Amino acid sequence: MTKKIYVIYTGGTIGMRPTDSGYAPSGNMMALLEEKLPEHVQAELPDFDLVEYEQLIDSSNIRPDNWKQIATDIADHYDQYDGFVVLHGTDTMAYSSSMISFMLRNLDKPVIFTGSQIPLCEARTDGLENFVGALTLAADERIKEVCLYFNGRLMRGNRARKQNAYLFDAFDSPNFPWLGRADINIELSEYLLLKPSQKPEFMLDCDSNSNVAILQLFPGITADFVEATLNQPFKAFIMRTYGTGNGPDGDQALLDALKKATDSGKIIVNLTQCHRGTVHQGSYAAGSALANAGVIGGLDTTTEAMFCKLHHLLSCGKTPEQVTAQISIDLAGEISL
Ligand code: ASP
Repeated sequence: MTKKIYVIYTGGTIGMRPTDSGYAPSGNMMALLEEKLPEHVQAELPDFDLVEYEQLIDSSNIRPDNWKQIATDIADHYDQYDGFVVLHGTDTMAYSSSMISFMLRNLDKPVIFTGSQIPLCEARTDGLENFVGALTLAADERIKEVCLYFNGRLMRGNRARKQNAYLFDAFDSPNFPWLGRADINIELSEYLLLKPSQKPEFMLDCDSNSNVAILQLFPGITADFVEATLNQPFKAFIMRTYGTGNGPDGDQALLDALKKATDSGKIIVNLTQCHRGTVHQGSYAAGSALANAGVIGGLDTTTEAMFCKLHHLLSCGKTPEQVTAQISIDLAGEISL
């Protein structure tokens, strides 16, 4: 039986058109796809229905409410379709694919995010291959998780990162192997795919207010700057440190600012600024000092995935203690243990 896929068009370069101020989101995606995919080509692809959101966005405008809309839309259509494709801008796609992986857990159908670097309306678009690949993968019943497909690579959604602003190779999965590749044949690394044993769980709560912020260390960062940042009304902070999770342990005032914040119930998670790698706060004294200040190591979770994990857990009403306990627990394949 032919598979039926639900395609959600949220905006992004894939459907953009040129304007006086540069590319901007534009509607009528279905007409564009029909123009690019003649009937005899469409006949080779899974059937799909496309929904176009009323407010199409450049994904740099993404807000938690957009995540709620996407997750709710998938949950509402979950039983009627075999798989889902989300057309999304590349700039924040790794955040959205991470967030949806936490909101829709134990999936038993594929949810594939994709987009493009050049719009579909342009001659050299990469959007067509990305769309056709994502649609094909969304019909593959071996996939039971949120993925990101781009330029022939299938990646776990909460492991992917935008790594390049101008190559077609826009995404990579620095701390986890690709789940598959689409060349002449589509090959999946089945042993890497999630195999949920529990029923799908839709946790659609998504606080519209931001509860999570990101603090990046830089040479010469001051205790005052750190304290002022941590005093902002956020419940959790990701601190992007050096190497395996090191910070300026020679600055006692800065360590005191961290300790004061964690003692007051703020969550601070240590992630590395390196593109690839994992945090081990005990490897160096400069990392141990952060652990002693109450900072929690986030291992190899990407900044995007940790941001969404924290946002999700706080949105679900978890206490700081409960959130802290889940940071190093694998919820949706986002962390290597
Ligand atoms: N600014 C665009 C967006 O994220 C970039 C893209 O889609 O490639 O919506």
